Amino acid sequence: MEEKTKLICISCPKGCSLDVTHDGNTILKVENAACKQGYVYAEKEFTDPRRMVASTVKVKGGLHPLVPVYTANPIPKPKIQDLLVELRKVELQAPVTGGDVVLENVFGTGINIITSRDMPAV
Ligand code: SF4
Repeated sequence: MEEKTKLICISCPKGCSLDVTHDGNTILKVENAACKQGYVYAEKEFTDPRRMVASTVKVKGGLHPLVPVYTANPIPKPKIQDLLVELRKVELQAPVTGGDVVLENVFGTGINIITSRDMPAV
């Protein structure tokens, strides 16, 4: 059955408000996209929605008690909550180097979680 759904494309800062006509997960038409990426975004959002995730993990013996981390690539949206639970269990030992892998191949996605800055020991 044909339906219409509104989506905001987050592929660039312009944030086009997309009018998507679809039948289930099959995209039939995307309107109001300022470029072709709008269609790509809508299709991905209906079949395999993903997001970059930024968070923090604990650090023992560091200048600060937390260090920021992020997903090296966007992870499937349904995995985000589980990822945040896993990150709460992580405790690194200072010193930490930006780019260190905190979790490897999370949930078999092939995606690593990495630190985004150094955290020196004190
Ligand atoms: S449709 Fe194109 S211009 Fe509009 S937000 Fe998406 S990427 Fe940016």
